[in-house]
Amino acid sequence: MERTALLRSLSCSSLACNKFLFSAPKHSRSFLSKSSTVSAAGRYHRRLIPNRSLIRRNNWRSLSVASSHSSLRFTYSNKNFSSLSPRAVASPTQPSPDIAGVEDEVAEKLGFEKVSEEFIGECKSKAVLFKHKKTGAEVMSVSNDDENKVFGIVFRTPPKDSTGIPHILEHSVLCGSRKYPLKEPFVELLKGSLHTFLNAFTYPDRTCYPVASTNAKDFYNLVDVYLDAVFFPKCIEDFQTFQQEGWHYELNDTSEDITYKGVVFNEMKGVYSQPDNLLGRTAQQALFPDNTYGVDSGGDPQVIPKLTYEEFKEFHRKYYHPSNARIWFYGDDDPIERLRILSEYLDMFDASTAPDESKVEPQKLFSEPVRFVEKYPVGEGGDLKKKHMVCLNWLLSDKPLDLQTELTLGFLDHLMLGTPASPLRKVLLESGLGDAIIGGGVEDELLQPQFSIGLKGVSEDDIPKVEELIMSSLKKLAEEGFDTDAVEASMNTIEFSLRENNTGSFPRGLSLMLRSIGKWIYDMDPFEPLKYEKPLMILKARIAEEGSKAVFSPLIEKFILNNPHCVTIEMQPDPEKASRDEAAEKEILNKVKASMTEEDLAELARATQELKLKQETPDPPEALRSVPSLSLHDIPKEPIRVPTEVGDINGVKVLQHDLFTNDVLYTDVVFDMSSLKRELLPLVPLFCQSLLEMGTKDLSFVQLNQLIGRKTGGISVYPFTSSIQGKEDPCSHIIVRGKSMAGCADDLFNLINCVIQEVQFTDQQRFKQFVSQSKARMESRLRGSGHGIAAARMDAKLNVSGWISEQMGGVRVTWNSYKGWRREWIMIGQEFHHLLRRSVNPYFPGKVA
Ligand SMILES: [Zn+2]
Repeated sequence: MERTALLRSLSCSSLACNKFLFSAPKHSRSFLSKSSTVSAAGRYHRRLIPNRSLIRRNNWRSLSVASSHSSLRFTYSNKNFSSLSPRAVASPTQPSPDIAGVEDEVAEKLGFEKVSEEFIGECKSKAVLFKHKKTGAEVMSVSNDDENKVFGIVFRTPPKDSTGIPHILEHSVLCGSRKYPLKEPFVELLKGSLHTFLNAFTYPDRTCYPVASTNAKDFYNLVDVYLDAVFFPKCIEDFQTFQQEGWHYELNDTSEDITYKGVVFNEMKGVYSQPDNLLGRTAQQALFPDNTYGVDSGGDPQVIPKLTYEEFKEFHRKYYHPSNARIWFYGDDDPIERLRILSEYLDMFDASTAPDESKVEPQKLFSEPVRFVEKYPVGEGGDLKKKHMVCLNWLLSDKPLDLQTELTLGFLDHLMLGTPASPLRKVLLESGLGDAIIGGGVEDELLQPQFSIGLKGVSEDDIPKVEELIMSSLKKLAEEGFDTDAVEASMNTIEFSLRENNTGSFPRGLSLMLRSIGKWIYDMDPFEPLKYEKPLMILKARIAEEGSKAVFSPLIEKFILNNPHCVTIEMQPDPEKASRDEAAEKEILNKVKASMTEEDLAELARATQELKLKQETPDPPEALRSVPSLSLHDIPKEPIRVPTEVGDINGVKVLQHDLFTNDVLYTDVVFDMSSLKRELLPLVPLFCQSLLEMGTKDLSFVQLNQLIGRKTGGISVYPFTSSIQGKEDPCSHIIVRGKSMAGCADDLFNLINCVIQEVQFTDQQRFKQFVSQSKARMESRLRGSGHGIAAARMDAKLNVSGWISEQMGGVRVTWNSYKGWRREWIMIGQEFHHLLRRSVNPYFPGKVA
């Protein structure tokens, strides 16, 4: 997986990287956005609409983070955690008295010195920073009562060119190691493991290998396989692994043409065919022309074949060294055992100069704005007029910002763009100048923060209008400030999310690790990013004393309006670009072939066969035996039981689960939609969106959203369908999901009731925007996850639940819906009312859980 340009591209088609896991994680990385969203096609159920964050910020970081190209693919197991599982948030309100510590002498004996130690109230953890004396490797050992243990090893890996060297290395180290000499140890390991997360990410300047498990033995097995993989991978002695994962010439027969092959090469070709990805990469490289972010750590398919095996090996030697490593342990396991395992590996090395060589130099600020026009490949046919994209990007500072400023910028970002009702987002979408918002707002995960905003689906003539609108809206916000209700709503939403610390199915310890590493990787304090209470208090006090305008307006002026380091990127559709690129590649390959002798060609054909044979040959049994696996004794015999009380309120079945949730009430109101007329199914997702974004009898949609933000932790509405074991008929529901502090339960249920009973389907313009957005989403899905769409289509033929999903979220939906709204709005309005009557009817026949 590769963490890309501006960290906001779509996830890689993990199928290209591996076979059995399907989706890349999206995790939040900012100081604020702890609540991570992970969207994945779960094994047990399918959610049709991408997991909408309960804080209702479609864009809030989720765009940003994404990034990733999963080589080890996504492996969260939803067997243990549902996205709202209280287990994920459960932790005692008081520090646990028996959090184990490491005696200094024991650490000393194992070769570590304690650098500092703190109790971090925000995550109820004791955190100790150690330094391995011999190599300088740094270790954060975080102890608490969370059974979902997390380990991660992170190397600073800034590339100097776009050959994709960090990305190829990330893939390759997972292809067997000294102690585990298999082709893919993790594939074997997963068969007998209880891991809750296993993956690897390449960022523009670092490579991360995290893993999580609730079973201690399993956890240490995984840690050992990872440590062996990163320090002693087979790939540095095995040229064929480099060829397989990176790139190679393929020639099946000397009479045929030579082609390029390689997992990362293919993966990046896919990435470079997606316009949003290209835009993100172009923007990052244009913002940082002078440092490591000016090249693509994922690899540009035109540059990847320039990478040599020698450079690859040297990169590993230099950067995958303990002196250049930051290591994270988190959870309820024994802190001494952590150091013991580490010392076995780290003691084998001496200190190196890697930390100096891997430092990321900051980009100096421009004195004038710049503009880039790029072409992106688009299919023949169709109307190309409204296919332009324009995005304005600012580099906010010539050095890292302090956490107080970062937190304040995060608030400002949420105020401007966080919800559909946020002013900058709203004005852009309502302008009708484009189909969907692009740019992730504030990005603070690299050394220097950035801000990006733009529109796609714009006609060429309207590009100056979009730029003008963005600038005039930002000016207006700086001059007039924000609505008090909006500030209160953002404050509540962000504070709720920080305190709740619900990372869903994403391990909490990993979310904390990514937050900490965001500063630690630049030699800054790893503890500080975990502590939000003080900066939050200071910010609240400032807003109360000075007013929100005095706090936010100067930031807009300083960082955006008066900041000359601005890069405008315009992307133009070019139906010939793909064939031009292909022709250029072919020409290079033809030249390569022409330069080869008969013997060279015969040798290449032989090498091609040899590589294929190797890929097809199963691992020998003795290699397979090297992989540790759990036995039945290691697994608890008793399943985890969720306490459930079944009750009844006015004929509605109510399931109650009494769990520790830090005083947060979670509720699902579930409506049966099995009696829905099948021709209405395609409208269901738009219906769900309309419930929250069209306004009610008494509230405009802006007021409704602000009220939800002020009183609750979020409300979302989505369809859900699943096969039921042993039954032919599936279940299909519309679920209204919400959360609030227990004391605000009345507000939460009143708001849910208000949304259901009083929604007004009368705003044709809003509906038109929903349709444009859903069209834009579908277009990116088609380019970015075609395999997912194909799988859904096949599923539709296999079971009823798959068919229902296909009707609601498949390729044909958008088409139908478009025709629908163009045909007659009134009819749509009636159909929505019909849907409301059928699925979410007025006497609330839901199940509350
Ligand atoms: Zn990858």
